[in-house]
Amino acid sequence: MKVYSFPRGGIFFEDTRVPDRSSSETAYLPALSVIPLIQHTGGRAYPIVSVGDSVREGMLIGRGQGMGSTNIHATVPGRVVRMVSWKSPDGLVNDALVIRMEGRFDKLGKAEEVSSWADLSPFVLQRLISEFGVVEMDGIGRPVADILSALRSAGDPLTLVVRCVFDDPWLAADYVLCRERLKAVAEGSAIIARAARASRVVFALSHREKDLGALFLAEAGNYGLTASLVLTGSRYPQRNRRELELVLRDYEKKEGVKLGSLLILGPATLAAIHDAVKLKKPILDRYVAVGGSAVKYPKVIKVRIGTRIGEVFAECGGFVDRPKRIVIGSPLLGRTVADLDEPVIKSSYAVFAMLESQVGFSPPRNCIGCGECRTVCPVGLDPEELFKRVGGKKSGGKRSGAGGGAIGSTHGILNECHGCGCCEVVCPSRLPLSSVILGAVARGI
Ligand code: SF4
Ligand code: SF4
Repeated sequence: MKVYSFPRGGIFFEDTRVPDRSSSETAYLPALSVIPLIQHTGGRAYPIVSVGDSVREGMLIGRGQGMGSTNIHATVPGRVVRMVSWKSPDGLVNDALVIRMEGRFDKLGKAEEVSSWADLSPFVLQRLISEFGVVEMDGIGRPVADILSALRSAGDPLTLVVRCVFDDPWLAADYVLCRERLKAVAEGSAIIARAARASRVVFALSHREKDLGALFLAEAGNYGLTASLVLTGSRYPQRNRRELELVLRDYEKKEGVKLGSLLILGPATLAAIHDAVKLKKPILDRYVAVGGSAVKYPKVIKVRIGTRIGEVFAECGGFVDRPKRIVIGSPLLGRTVADLDEPVIKSSYAVFAMLESQVGFSPPRNCIGCGECRTVCPVGLDPEELFKRVGGKKSGGKRSGAGGGAIGSTHGILNECHGCGCCEVVCPSRLPLSSVILGAVARGI
């Protein structure tokens, strides 16, 4: 079977510090949950409970405020004891409800009530997905209801792409979820295909996971889907939307099929769609890969949303020594966190903690002109040149090439950068190339 790969750049990303992918463990329920009223880019939900109120497991506690915002639910039963606010290192203000666990569980340990969706219209399915606050459970976490709305203006046909491309070993949690919840992911695909009126489903999998792809295809057969399997390379950032679309257009041409517009969703999101529609259940848990050199027993664990990451590390035996850096997400795209009280949210697929020896502390040096950053850029940009133009600092604190004219003409090129981070990873001078470029994009330079 042909393996489709994007044409240029990228890196093979291996990491021995990731946890084993063979199975997951379920974490203890948190005594205190911190449930942010915003768990993605966009708007905050409006809290509909107050300090002192009792809440039930799965109860609506924050109501979405239209586009860019989504419903938020309690993930444990208990009492709201505080409303907290903090600023993350990227400058965003987070508000959250703190729930002290008490009382009985309505869902945990109970037989699940299963609803048939076969006769539901696309409109009703969309309403359920919105009502239960389903968001993309990786990336920036856009509400799925917003993605569906945006697709209304897309032309026919529409193809649902089930993205199970594991180009980053820190996607271990999604891999384990695919294995353990394969039927839910496949049925979630059938549900969203109907909700979005997609005429075809493509399961896009890294070629090493061909057997998993065959299992998905067999399951899809139960729902009468027009489904196919596309095997991709595992060079990072193959999973990225742009690079995935490139290989799908190549597949389209070679196989003579018409894919049309693409709705691309990952396995955790599809399992959440299944739970919302079939089990009438909001997102209560997230599979999270926990690892890094500072963690005693790296593993994939199933964690309640709202569990503080300090407890997540405790679940893995704690630290072998004081960590130097803690990150939510992958080493390539993750966000450094300063506080172990930050909670797991719907899009947290990995957390890791590194010892000082792993972080390294050599400061950035001058560019040696090796050209590695240009070689790995999948978009064909010159990261070093962009870095200079937007005023990236080199060793000694000098700024170079930051003329206003140069920045003006750079604007369009900057927006082509999709922030994969490849250039920064390979730079032998440790220049923060993608961080500075993305910072400039965020400032609208
Ligand atoms: S972060 Fe941007 S400039 Fe760097 S390799 Fe990726 S696309 Fe290219
Ligand atoms: S990889 Fe780093 S050192 Fe090499 S050319 Fe790019 S910026 Fe310069």
